[in-house]
Amino acid sequence: MSDLQQQLATNLDSVKQRIEAAAQRSGRSGEAVQLVAVCKYVSSDITAALVSAGCQHVGENRPQQLWDKQETLADADIHWHMIGHLQRNKVQRTVRSLTMLHAGDSIRLLKAVQQAVADRQERLPVLLQINISGEPSKHGFAPTEIASHMEEIAQFEGLSVHGLMTMATLGANEDDTRRDFERLRQLRDQLETNCPDTMQLNELSMGMSGDFELAIEEGATLVRVGSALFEGISTG
Ligand SMILES: *Cc1c(COP(=O)(O)O)cnc(C)c1O
Repeated sequence: MSDLQQQLATNLDSVKQRIEAAAQRSGRSGEAVQLVAVCKYVSSDITAALVSAGCQHVGENRPQQLWDKQETLADADIHWHMIGHLQRNKVQRTVRSLTMLHAGDSIRLLKAVQQAVADRQERLPVLLQINISGEPSKHGFAPTEIASHMEEIAQFEGLSVHGLMTMATLGANEDDTRRDFERLRQLRDQLETNCPDTMQLNELSMGMSGDFELAIEEGATLVRVGSALFEGISTG
């Protein structure tokens, strides 16, 4: 094994162990939490090495980078997640071969995605991004407005809503970060009481390198981890 592969395997193992431990603290098994490796910092080669180390779910936050890697790594068995804001003119190409869109952050975008997948057999899995912190720099539905959009979103027949996604307040302390995640879970629970039949809200995509354990303790089912997987690796 090369040094790179050795280091990636060590990092992946450590993140997986931390996921397992946090899942147990929330009364779940580690298998209830899917690791999405955010590879936006690294090349296709390093992404491929991480996939061989045993992480098949890869997240990208920029469409161009997603497309480039999908092309370069076309032969690898990878489930692609789009985790960043998507402009409507990039939808068509992005949804071509996507496992899940995490950043369903506006009705306008969801409408464009619906149009792009309308002639498909299978619905595209999407998450509704919630701006839980209310920071103006962040995309997403306001927690107070999402309930009023659920019926409309349920009309998008090409989409299959699986849950919610959020990011915690930038630079917040541990207690406040935990509260953000707790609020997303509570919002989900509240939406579930009046959820259109075609939707499921099982998935909570929350938690990054600095806070994924807190997120799991608060119910995350998908964690989007980048830098923790690439510690000690030159990403240039
Ligand atoms: C970059 C990114 C992550 C991963 O961040 P790390 O702190 O490097 O783990 C997760 N989610 C989104 C939306 C991102 O853009």
